[in-house]
Amino acid sequence: MTSQTAGPRVDAARLKDEFLQLVSIPSLSRREGAIARRLEGILKAMGATVEVDDAGERIGGDTGNLLARFRGNTPSAEPLFLSGHMDTVAPADAVHPVVEGDVVRTDRTSVLGGDDKAGLVAIFEAIRTLRERAIPHGDIEVVLTICEETGLRGAKNFDVSRLRARRGLVLDVDGVAELVTRAPAANHLTVKIHGLAAHAGICPEQGLSAIEMAAAAIAGMRLGRLDAETTANLGVVEGGHASNIVPGWVTLRGETRSLDVRKLEAQTAHMRQRFEAAVADRSVQVGDRVHRAGLEIDAVRQYEPLDVPDNAAIVSLVRAAGESLGRPCRTRSTGGGSDANVFAGRGLEVANLACGMREIHSVNEWVDVKDLVVTAELVLETVRLSAVR
Ligand SMILES: [Zn+2]
Repeated sequence: MTSQTAGPRVDAARLKDEFLQLVSIPSLSRREGAIARRLEGILKAMGATVEVDDAGERIGGDTGNLLARFRGNTPSAEPLFLSGHMDTVAPADAVHPVVEGDVVRTDRTSVLGGDDKAGLVAIFEAIRTLRERAIPHGDIEVVLTICEETGLRGAKNFDVSRLRARRGLVLDVDGVAELVTRAPAANHLTVKIHGLAAHAGICPEQGLSAIEMAAAAIAGMRLGRLDAETTANLGVVEGGHASNIVPGWVTLRGETRSLDVRKLEAQTAHMRQRFEAAVADRSVQVGDRVHRAGLEIDAVRQYEPLDVPDNAAIVSLVRAAGESLGRPCRTRSTGGGSDANVFAGRGLEVANLACGMREIHSVNEWVDVKDLVVTAELVLETVRLSAVR
């Protein structure tokens, strides 16, 4: 069952106003307390019960994740969850939105924080409209996380067994009327190479350069874009003490990502093998002591892949909602991870709905309120269809 809608049912002016209010409240990772209290107030005013978990205490932040529960008006409908994150990247100690018609930017001294406040306001406006107009909907659970931008740590510290819903949407990706159903798994690598320090002018032959060994490893390493679904990067190199000392140590940090976990593991093994080969058999004799080069590699899975089949119920619902609104919603993949990866890794059926954020993680970030309206409408219609189908 679908319905033809003459125009947006959500209130665009209210949506814009709430967006401007929320982006004006700074909410850097681990400092989401002020926005969390505001969001808690909004959710309670809309009729939800709200709980705050202990994730903040565990990761040193000033609030935990919020879980809000709304009772539906259609008891036969399955519950759905809707999620976004409360934190933003820097710079955002103060945010001064600049409004030009429907486009909201900043004065270029900060990011806008449409990532992810565009998602939050779309969720709120959809639920508000469903309730005000008594549109059919089941129970809705809203999960608002902390510290998404610093390694998805809020979501990782959220206990998904507290949710009744088994399926839902994260709203946290750029674009509009698009549904991300595939996102990579990622491994994070920390590599420490131990050489031997020596005076570079007096006795370099008594040293073993850790930086040289790192260079040899990297020279033969596949990095960057490896194929359509796989990437790798070494992003940080720290090592040595002074230009006149043969560097006795170097630490490297990097990552690899792939939509295909087998490729992820193959690339991780390749990076490991390059370091091992560069360090193997490297030694230096000083007096009667032989110093061998050493290597420590720590490879940790940061998050699991997101891989929702096109015939999954959540995908069908969003697609049907797009059709119903005359805004067809295509599915796509992304190279970035989100809380959706974490929730999917814990067995929930979840996809990531684009929510109108643009040029994110930069001071040029902007949002078009018309995109927020489309997003809120899509959420509303998805929840409605889930109740009436
Ligand atoms: Zn985000």
